Amino acid sequence: MARKIGSRYTAHQILGRGSAGTVWLGEGPEGPVAIKMLREDLASDQELVGRFVQERAALLKLDHPHVVAVRDLVVDGNDLALVMDLVRGTDLRTRLDRERRLAPEAAVAIAIDIADGLAAAHAAQIVHRDVKPENVLLDMQGPLGPGGAHPALLTDFGVAKLIDTPRRTKATKIIGTPDYLAPEIVEGLPPRAAVDIYALATVLYELLAGFTPFGGGHPGAVLRRHVTETVVPLPGIPEELWQLIVQCLAKAPASRLRASELAAGLREQLPLLAGMPPLDVDEPEAESPAAGEQAGYETEAGQGAEPARPRRGAVPLVPGSTADSNRDTHTSMRVPAPDELAGGPLGTARVPRTAGDRRPGSARHRSELRRRRLIMTTAGVALLAAVGVGGWLAATSSEDEKPPAPDTSQSSPVRP
Ligand code: ADP
Repeated sequence: MARKIGSRYTAHQILGRGSAGTVWLGEGPEGPVAIKMLREDLASDQELVGRFVQERAALLKLDHPHVVAVRDLVVDGNDLALVMDLVRGTDLRTRLDRERRLAPEAAVAIAIDIADGLAAAHAAQIVHRDVKPENVLLDMQGPLGPGGAHPALLTDFGVAKLIDTPRRTKATKIIGTPDYLAPEIVEGLPPRAAVDIYALATVLYELLAGFTPFGGGHPGAVLRRHVTETVVPLPGIPEELWQLIVQCLAKAPASRLRASELAAGLREQLPLLAGMPPLDVDEPEAESPAAGEQAGYETEAGQGAEPARPRRGAVPLVPGSTADSNRDTHTSMRVPAPDELAGGPLGTARVPRTAGDRRPGSARHRSELRRRRLIMTTAGVALLAAVGVGGWLAATSSEDEKPPAPDTSQSSPVRP
């Protein structure tokens, strides 16, 4: 089912689907290419098309061994396509899903490649804005590097910016993937190069640990953790490597290293990591797990719809909303209000998790659910008893009692 894209390219088969569109294996005048067809709703947005054309020159100029080169931008009728170099391999998310965590040497080698790619982009005044394992492609035909890592290439440059048109995302909305979003974006500041460094440090942490430092649960809870929580240490890695990660996860963008500095620092660490096995750490767990349960995780696992992934419970920041633990790029997240970021009754302080598998559907997860149900039932009985006693007291109290104060405890519903 070949499909013509403009006058020069033909798309042959789908390679994968992402949040912004579908990627096809295609053919161009110079050989095989990957063609990303942007989603229809994006392609039909005139403002976005204009911006797309504006971005063209900058994107086409970015040429680096660790950046997937954009070869062409095609606007053809209703189609909007990015023509890229074809990378024969897989994305880093697929590798992480398979291996959970990587040996430190391989993890750092991949992070160095990404840092090198970012250094070139930042020098050209291009900020990626959506660095995450899904946007890192591993070239399986390239030479093996330290720790047996295949060369890593950063892809999707410019896509987050394209989607982020003023009309699409009002001043209070943010673009990105909650797990990798720098605190300054959460606070509404414009994204500068340091947001990519924060996201890369998050990816490196995830490659080493098997989980992101602030992820899990409702996106609102994740956003708040970026702003308010400190990163849980990773035992078993050299102190200098840990300090590099901590520095790049600094809340203040100015405190983070530049991409070239991070690459150089990580290179110095490589010899210390040779032969080191993957770390053995447990994912921290958010308190208040009941919300995750209410949000239907049990049903999802029961239907076997999604591959099981460890999820942490979290309390939705937005009253009445459901929890969501995916790592997709969110195009309609709003900036939380300062009081929401400050914590309070909805707080989700994380505590170290005990060892063992708590994936939805696992025996451990089911027994956890039974325990929670028992707690909920007990709490319900206690509440009913309290209401009964309270009612009896109210009925027997004196008649000159003051009227109750208006209830100010409930926050007003937050607009999406
Ligand atoms: P996302 O939007 O989630 O970041 P993409 O739309 O960039 O994902 O890509 C979806 C999938 O298409 C990737 O996981 C990858 O398998 C494949 N893909 C993307 N770009 C390329 C490329 N340049 N070469 C080969 N495969 C690619």
